[in-house]
Amino acid sequence: MLSVSDARERILNTIKVVDEVILPIDQVVGRVLAENVTSPTDYPTFDNSSMDGFAVRSSDIACASQTAPTILTVVSDIRAGMDPGIPLFTGQCARIMTGAPVPSGSDAVVMVEDTDFEVRIPGSPAPNVVAVFKPTKPGENVRHRADDVHVGEKVLPAGTRLRAQDVGLLAMLGRQSVPVYRRTRVAILSSGDELLSINSPLVPGKIYDANSYLLAAMLEKTGIDLVNLGIAADSEMDIRLRLDNAVKAKVDFIISSAGVSVGASDYIKAVIEERGNLDFWKVNMRPGKPLAYGKYRGIPFFGLPGNPVSAFVSFEVFVRPALEKASGQVPHLIPTQKAILAQPIESDGRETYFRAVVSEEGDHLVAHLSGHQGSGNLFSLVQANALLIVPSGVKSLPANSEVQIWPIL
Ligand code: AMP
Ligand code: MG
Repeated sequence: MLSVSDARERILNTIKVVDEVILPIDQVVGRVLAENVTSPTDYPTFDNSSMDGFAVRSSDIACASQTAPTILTVVSDIRAGMDPGIPLFTGQCARIMTGAPVPSGSDAVVMVEDTDFEVRIPGSPAPNVVAVFKPTKPGENVRHRADDVHVGEKVLPAGTRLRAQDVGLLAMLGRQSVPVYRRTRVAILSSGDELLSINSPLVPGKIYDANSYLLAAMLEKTGIDLVNLGIAADSEMDIRLRLDNAVKAKVDFIISSAGVSVGASDYIKAVIEERGNLDFWKVNMRPGKPLAYGKYRGIPFFGLPGNPVSAFVSFEVFVRPALEKASGQVPHLIPTQKAILAQPIESDGRETYFRAVVSEEGDHLVAHLSGHQGSGNLFSLVQANALLIVPSGVKSLPANSEVQIWPIL
């Protein structure tokens, strides 16, 4: 049987990255950056004040104190957005507002609170003289050019999924547009004669199609364009028809659930083989042992197991990294943490993903199983906050063993 990591590796080796598009930066949040962005400028672009106060020469006020203030002549009034104006000479200062350029000759800003200038009414004119009560260090309350970013510095690497703060930075540096990867288009298909849409009344023998909603919701969080192929009956003709709709919709991936085992109604494999190629693997994992991966008319195809928990785990382990690679990101590694097992557990030697509730106890994490571990029991996944991974080859673990847990959101 194929190991989980080998199966993932084999899938990732077949995945190609989608094309790039150039978009204005107000359309790129959640998109993946397709180039390294370097700063076209120093930032701040000029020395400016971080306080409302007075721009001074710090050597002038070295002896200033509450009882013996230094009196300076105010020679200009610099507000944000203005030119810094005339230079300062000894004994002079300039009233200055936050974000306004510091005049030449000045090396520091005294906060208005450390002067005798009490008038804080918007629009009030600057005084002619001001008494300063405190010395400043050179550079105090000045944001220097390039304090934050240097010209030519790499600020965002290619592959970054852009967040609001990244978009803010692009604007701050004056970028109007950036190349990002096209959104991937993903089609999902449920299959099985027993499945009903949630709009229909439930009748004996039938169940509601949970996987379409489960997979669509997982995909929505990854920022793809979804094409829903609906529910295919257990018939080659219906499956083929719906997969051909995915081809017409020019999707990058097709993800189906169910119909890939060895049951009498499992037709997915046959349809894929007929019009593409199929690798059908028994992966050494639980849940999710049967995994079909291949191409349908050239489109990468995942045949996930039908049980909702198996579909969820297989998606996280195999599909998510593939989508990340296709969208230009580096596929993330499973972010595991150590926890202490609260109870003994039995496994069957396959790499097992148990559903667990993990809580902090003192300085470590403790993991309990979250309920019935059958792969159709979605409720125990809902109650879980982590998957607990037991490596292959391990058949039992006593209580208090150290285990790896994978937090799920
Ligand atoms: P199969 O792989 O087709 O044998 O399906 C395995 C199990 O998953 C069966 O109990 C199915 O009824 C169930 N199942 C398949 N598809 C879905 C779905 N979309 N929603 C909920 N359960 C499903
Ligand atoms: Mg079925």
